[in-house]
Amino acid sequence: MSDLQSNLDKLSGYLERFRRDGVLNHIAGEARPALSGATFDNATPVDESHICKVARSDAADIDAAARAAKQAFPAWAAMDGKERKKILHRVADLIVERAEEIALCECWDTGQALRFMSKAALRGAENFRFFADRAPAARDGQMLPSPTLMNVTTRVPIGPVGVITPWNTPFMLSTWKIAPALAAGCTVVHKPAEFSPLTARLLVEIAEEAGLPKGVWNLVNGFGEDAGRALTEHPDIKAIAFVGESRTGSMIMKQGADTLKRVHFELGGKNPVVVFDDADLDRALDAAIFMIYSLNGERCTSSSRLLVQSTVADQFLEKLTARVNSIRVGHPLDPKTEVGPLIHKTHFDKVCSYFDTARENGATIAAGGARIGDTGWFVAPTLFTGASNDMTIAQEEIFGPVLTAITFDTEEQALAIANDIPYGLTGYVWTSDLTRALRFTNALEAGMIWVNSENVRHLPTPFGGVKASGIGRDGGDWSFEFYMETKHIGFATGQHPIPRLGA
Ligand code: NAD
Repeated sequence: MSDLQSNLDKLSGYLERFRRDGVLNHIAGEARPALSGATFDNATPVDESHICKVARSDAADIDAAARAAKQAFPAWAAMDGKERKKILHRVADLIVERAEEIALCECWDTGQALRFMSKAALRGAENFRFFADRAPAARDGQMLPSPTLMNVTTRVPIGPVGVITPWNTPFMLSTWKIAPALAAGCTVVHKPAEFSPLTARLLVEIAEEAGLPKGVWNLVNGFGEDAGRALTEHPDIKAIAFVGESRTGSMIMKQGADTLKRVHFELGGKNPVVVFDDADLDRALDAAIFMIYSLNGERCTSSSRLLVQSTVADQFLEKLTARVNSIRVGHPLDPKTEVGPLIHKTHFDKVCSYFDTARENGATIAAGGARIGDTGWFVAPTLFTGASNDMTIAQEEIFGPVLTAITFDTEEQALAIANDIPYGLTGYVWTSDLTRALRFTNALEAGMIWVNSENVRHLPTPFGGVKASGIGRDGGDWSFEFYMETKHIGFATGQHPIPRLGA
C-alpha cells in the first residue's frame, strides 16, 4: 500500500466522528451545537468533497461562551502557577500522542502538505511547553524602592480573552495564541477560521482531557461577521488576540472601540528577501524558495518579494525558474508533496487573478501562472520576473505560491524598494558583508529580520510586525505583557510628610 493510501485510510477513521457529529462548539466543558441550531458545510480543498457540518454560531453563543469564561476566570487566575504549568505540559503530551490525527485532519481541512503539518502539531506542543514553564513566574514584578516607599510591581491576568485565528496553519497558530493566555491565568473564548475548524475542536478536547477546568477554554465556531464580531464587542472579553488580514484587524479595532478592547494583531505581509551579489547564492536560493513555496505560500512570513542584485540576477533567476518548475504539487497526504491545494475557491480565484494582473502590469510569468487539474484548488508554483515595485503584484499580499522578482543595482535602491510597501512583518537579507548587514537591517522596516537565514523561530524571541503587519509582539515575556496587567503598589516605609489640606 502506498503512503498516500495508508494516510487516507487512517484519515477516514479520524474523520468518522466529524461526519457523525459535525464540529460542535465547546462551552463550559460541554460540546454544544449553535443555540439557533444553524450549521454550515465544510469541504476539503483537495477535491471539494464535503467533510462535515459546523456549528454556525452567533452573538447568543458568544455570550454563553463569554459568561462561561468569566465564571471560570477567578479560580483559574488564582490557581498556583505550578499547577497551571503541570496541566499545560499534559496538554503538550496529549498533542504529541495525537500528532498524527491532528496532522492528517489539518491537511485534509486546509490543503497543507503533510511534510510540513506533521511538524506543526509538534510545534504546537512546544508552544504549550514553552509557556507552561513560564507560568509560575508570570506574575513576578520588580522592586523599585524610593526614599519614602517600597514600590513593587506585580502582574495579574487581564481576564477572559478572545482569540481569533485564520485558516493557514490553524492548529499551530491557535496554540501560539492560547498557550500564553492560559499560562498567564486568562480564560479563553476561541473563534477559529470558518474554513478550517477541525483541529480547533481536537485541541479543546485535548485540553480538557489534560485536566483544564471546564469553562477555562471555550470554542465557538462561525463566521467572522457574526461570531467573530460579537466576540470583539462583548463587554466581558477584555482583550482580543487576532491573527488574520490587515483589513480585518482594522475592523476589529473599530468593533472593539466601545468596550475599549486591548488588541494584539498579527496581520499580513509582503516580505522582501534581498539577495546581494556577495551572498552565498546557493543558500539564498534554497531559503528564498522555501520561504515562499512551503505551506502553499499561505504564510504571513513568506518571502513574497525577491529583490536580487542585477549583477547576479540572470544566473539567480535562471536557477530559480528551474527549481520552481520542479516543485512537486500534489495530494497533501502524499509525503512527497511539497505544495498542496489552496484553502478554498474564493482564495484560489484571488490568487489566480494575479496571473492576469501580472500580464497587465507588464511583468513576465517565468514559471507557473495556471491552475493544475480541474478538481481541487491546485495552483502551479508561480514566478513573476521583470517586475517593478510599483506594480500591483509587488504591492499586494497574494498569499499563495507566487513570487514576484525585482532587480536592483545598489544597496540604497534595495532599501528603498524593500521599505516602499504598506507592510512590515519580516525581511530576509543575504550578504557576506557584515557592515552592510548591520546598516541594512537597522534601516529595514520590519518587525523580524533574518540575515543569511530563512525564518527560524526561537520561542523566546519577539514575533510581530510593524506598519500594516501588526500591533504588539508575541513570544518570550512579550505574550504575557499582552495577556496581563502590570500593577504598582507603594508601601510607605516611614512617616513621610503628607500635604495637609484644610488643616
Ligand atoms: P481573515 O482576516 O479573513 O480571517 C481571520 C479570522 O478573523 C477568521 O477567524 C475570521 O472568521 C475572522 N473575522 C473575519 N472578519 C471578522 C470581523 N469583522 N470580526 C471578527 N473576526 C472576524 O484572515 P484569513 O484569510 O483567515 O487569513 C489569512 C491572513 O492572515 C493573511 O493576511 C495572513 O498574512 C494573515 N496571517 C498573519 C500572521 C502573522 O503572524 N502576522 C499569521 C498567519 C496569518
